[in-house]
Amino acid sequence: MTCPLTPPPGMRRAALSDAGLRRDGNQDVAFAGCRLLVVADGFGLDGARAAAAAVGALTPLEDDGVPTADPLGALSGAVDRAGRAVDEVAGSSADPDGVGTTLTALLWTGSRLALAHVGDTRAYLLRDGLLTRLTEDHSMVRELTDAGRLTPEEALAHPQRALLTKALTRNVRNTPDTVDVRALDVRSGDRYLLCSDGLWAAVPEAGISRVLSTTADPREAVRSLVDLANAAGGPDNVSCVVADFGDRTS
Ligand code: MG
Repeated sequence: MTCPLTPPPGMRRAALSDAGLRRDGNQDVAFAGCRLLVVADGFGLDGARAAAAAVGALTPLEDDGVPTADPLGALSGAVDRAGRAVDEVAGSSADPDGVGTTLTALLWTGSRLALAHVGDTRAYLLRDGLLTRLTEDHSMVRELTDAGRLTPEEALAHPQRALLTKALTRNVRNTPDTVDVRALDVRSGDRYLLCSDGLWAAVPEAGISRVLSTTADPREAVRSLVDLANAAGGPDNVSCVVADFGDRTS
């Protein structure tokens, strides 16, 4: 792919999506372009179509004249289109109220980075050897954990761990109440990870951090992360995007 914008100096990225070991199909989508990084985890009867439609609505950001001064507006507009695309999928589904997708996306415009997020896919930042989560899960167990009614360990084992409080579904629109959109500050050496719950629910953060800290090549990093999830039983579809900004020494 020829990048239309000058990528961040030394920006390298890779995406990998895998069905895991227990699911018949893969309803996740992972995408790593020149400007756009996305992970979506579809659910319901037509979850794969919903995830693909949402990501497909974002990919014009790769080659349109994205306003470099307003990545938040550009990304938010694309999320609007993603919501409508999922709505269309729901309208043609045999289970219109059960279909939808999560969406976690980063948009780079040459100088600025924007994040959009809904659902329980996640974005992480590895900076100076420290892994930080950039997104909050829109899930019932996260609300119970925040309220002190579940420990993080109990949340992971909860039978309704995957029950979402927000996602792109039928009739859901991109508003500040549904989709988190914000700017991120980028530094040379930053490494970003986007992933579906097939990774973070199966692999402890220490294991994720270890791979990200010790595997220089993003292609090897996404492969190792997917392998870890499958070594842990591969209970769900697993998707990872890893992108490096600037020079990394690891
Ligand atoms: Mg999943």
